[in-house]
Amino acid sequence: MKISVIASGSNGNCCLIENNSSSVLVDAGKSGREIESRMGKLGKSLEDVNGIILTHAHHDHVAGAGVLSKRFGIPLYMANETYAGTKLKLGKIEMKMFSVNKSFKIGSLRIKPVITSHNVSSCGFVFGKFGIFTDTGIVTKQMERTIPKLNGVLLESNHDIDMVINGHYPAFLKKWILSDEGHLSNIHASSLIQEKGKKLSLVLLGHLSGNNNSPDVAKNTFEKLVKRKIEYAVCSRDEESGSWSL
Ligand SMILES: [Zn+2]
Ligand SMILES: [Zn+2]
Repeated sequence: MKISVIASGSNGNCCLIENNSSSVLVDAGKSGREIESRMGKLGKSLEDVNGIILTHAHHDHVAGAGVLSKRFGIPLYMANETYAGTKLKLGKIEMKMFSVNKSFKIGSLRIKPVITSHNVSSCGFVFGKFGIFTDTGIVTKQMERTIPKLNGVLLESNHDIDMVINGHYPAFLKKWILSDEGHLSNIHASSLIQEKGKKLSLVLLGHLSGNNNSPDVAKNTFEKLVKRKIEYAVCSRDEESGSWSL
């Protein structure tokens, strides 16, 4: 299996998962043009993508989904309740609904949704031994059960708690970020890896905030809290991060 991080951050998310015969985009939270260009730099083509699946309906996950789906004839997969929240002018595209409680297949890729705590029917996804979990205020029971079985994750490491508290965001926004339906902090992400990720050989820290985090701060927290030797990378907010095999 190959994982390519096209975009990751509170300013846009998109990740390509491929096996030998099938290929899926998780979220498309940049403009269609930007996603196409970044994929090109990694030697990937949207012509080969069999489906776009959405974790939830926030702009940083859906911005280019409708355009790409239409332009390349790629079916768009989302949870039933997510559709109501997209407010996307989707036009004529092929839409497929899934239930967050049930696995489904796109080509030969089996996809298991894992419930997160963030938005209506928000979820992460597991592909075999690899999981994507971003946008969750807490580590849900389902995540806790799933992570010990995985060899690789793309995990949200959104903010440094002190940077949020001491930062310039309005009080309501700070409260939401730190709430159970907000985002996962560096400490929460790295503690989860240390405590539950016994089989992990690859960790990609993603969905970093631009104002309340930095790659160095996320990296330092990870290195302080995670005591095992694991290949890891902090995903870039500004460009494609690269491809990894698992
Ligand atoms: Zn997000
Ligand atoms: Zn979100």
